[in-house]
Amino acid sequence: MIIKPDGVQKKLIGEVLRRVESAGLQIKSLRLLQLDRATASRFYSVHKERPFFNSLVEYMTSGPVVVVALEAPNGVTKLRTLIGATDPDKADEGTIRRLYAESIEQNVVHGSDSPENGAIETSFFFNTNEMSLSNSLQE
Ligand code: ATP
Ligand code: MG
Repeated sequence: MIIKPDGVQKKLIGEVLRRVESAGLQIKSLRLLQLDRATASRFYSVHKERPFFNSLVEYMTSGPVVVVALEAPNGVTKLRTLIGATDPDKADEGTIRRLYAESIEQNVVHGSDSPENGAIETSFFFNTNEMSLSNSLQE
């Protein structure tokens, strides 16, 4: 997942991670970083033909983000249930986007949309060593 620039700006890092951990998702690794245009464009390259692409890249590079590698059985579904629909007005009550997002663009968090993309996106930001630190922790 990514806590997007608006989430970091609004001091929601702790709140988002608390919800994620409470839902039983394990934090494998995490980092605060500033995305540059090239990296944000590459990360969201599936959307490059969409009308909102330039604005999305602008937004994603507007301040620091927190990238988080997560693991859980049914992790994608668990996380996306926690996050809610892309548009906060359509997101279920109690979801992160419903509670905290400003708009369909500035929606606080990103969650991978499939296990395959989850693997691609975590390896985009983390190496295997970084993600194995928590292996020694008790369940
Ligand atoms: P994400 O991939 O960030 O988890 P998502 O899977 O719910 O979000 P996508 O359709 O993949 O939604 O869109 C990626 C991101 O692009 C959205 O989270 C949002 O920030 C932005 N976005 C999506 N649709 C629009 C839109 N119609 N107008 C402006 N920005 C949009
Ligand atoms: Mg998406």
